[in-house]
Amino acid sequence: MTKVLVLAEAKNGKLRNVSIEVLTVAGRVASDVEINACIFGSDTEKYSEELAKYGAEKVYVVDNEELNEYTPDGYKQALLKVIEEVQPDVVLTGHTAIGKDIFPRVAARLNVALISDCIDVETEDVLVFTRPIYSGKAFQKKKVIKDLVMATIRPNNIEAKENPVTNETSKLLVTIKDLRSVVREVVKKASGKVDLAEAKVIVSGGRGVKSAEGFQPLQELADVLGGAVGASRAACDAEYCDYSLQIGQTGKVVTPDLYIACGISGAMQHLAGMSSSKVIVAINKDPEANIFHVADYGIVGDLFEVVPLLTEEFKKVLAEKQALAN
Ligand code: FAD
Repeated sequence: MTKVLVLAEAKNGKLRNVSIEVLTVAGRVASDVEINACIFGSDTEKYSEELAKYGAEKVYVVDNEELNEYTPDGYKQALLKVIEEVQPDVVLTGHTAIGKDIFPRVAARLNVALISDCIDVETEDVLVFTRPIYSGKAFQKKKVIKDLVMATIRPNNIEAKENPVTNETSKLLVTIKDLRSVVREVVKKASGKVDLAEAKVIVSGGRGVKSAEGFQPLQELADVLGGAVGASRAACDAEYCDYSLQIGQTGKVVTPDLYIACGISGAMQHLAGMSSSKVIVAINKDPEANIFHVADYGIVGDLFEVVPLLTEEFKKVLAEKQALAN
């Protein structure tokens, strides 16, 4: 029996999609697997039911208000305690801001292997994790040869599958101490309603958008499609939008179902963050722009004409679809 522990995250009162995807990955780790999940902060017991829907047989809640906001010391203490309790073979979480920060700390403390930003897991004779390297130009397969391994899983790569089980929830008492940093206030800079890292549709703008106001039509298109707005670094550097929207090698790595690149040339550092999107649409007035090499659909034209037309067209199609559904 292989024991897997998943560190789950919730945001705005909802389990994050990536945590559900990670539970699906947990189910693939071995044929005979016991899935445990843990979640930290006050009032997190309520997520137990949904965790059970995706296969978590045991849920460990560390109900402590000092864990309501992420702090490296607090989360480290809580996760070490859960690992001590569960004695897992594999520990998984999403490749999120929290996952990227906490897993290396805990892996270093336990002196165990960490495989980050995985996009697939297979079980041959041993467990094999796949992760992109060289900004997504190649893929590396890592075989696990030691007992305990920790891995972070890239959001939006694995389709979450329901796997309902009846579960039990245990509350673990952890005295959080010696916090070297505490979060006093969270200032939300990005105005987007949809989380960029987990968005199924991203409408992204580059230097070709020309101004902060130029992003308005992109936001309208994103709203119609229930998506989020992203940006190239050039657009962020020019202060058209906040750096939290930057996609690429030094920004966020995203894998939406649909990525619409508007006025983005397709520099390799930008492609590093979005080239694994399932469908890529590029709108650029330069027919030679590099973005067309990775795009599934290309529109050569002025984004200020094309984007509003697309918005209107999507509105019509979605309204017709809605009418048929009624
Ligand atoms: P440009 O290259 O200037 O392209 C603008 C495009 O808009 C052009 O193709 C033009 O034809 C088109 N255009 C102009 N007007 C219109 C219009 N009206 N309608 C339609 N099309 C129009 N970049 C990132 O994006 N993310 C990163 O994480 C990142 N990290 C980097 C890290 C390093 C170490 C370095 C050196 C660079 C990094 N960059 C990153 C920068 C990257 O190299 C490019 O400079 C940047 O991606 C270019 O952004 P852009 O495509 O918006 O701008």
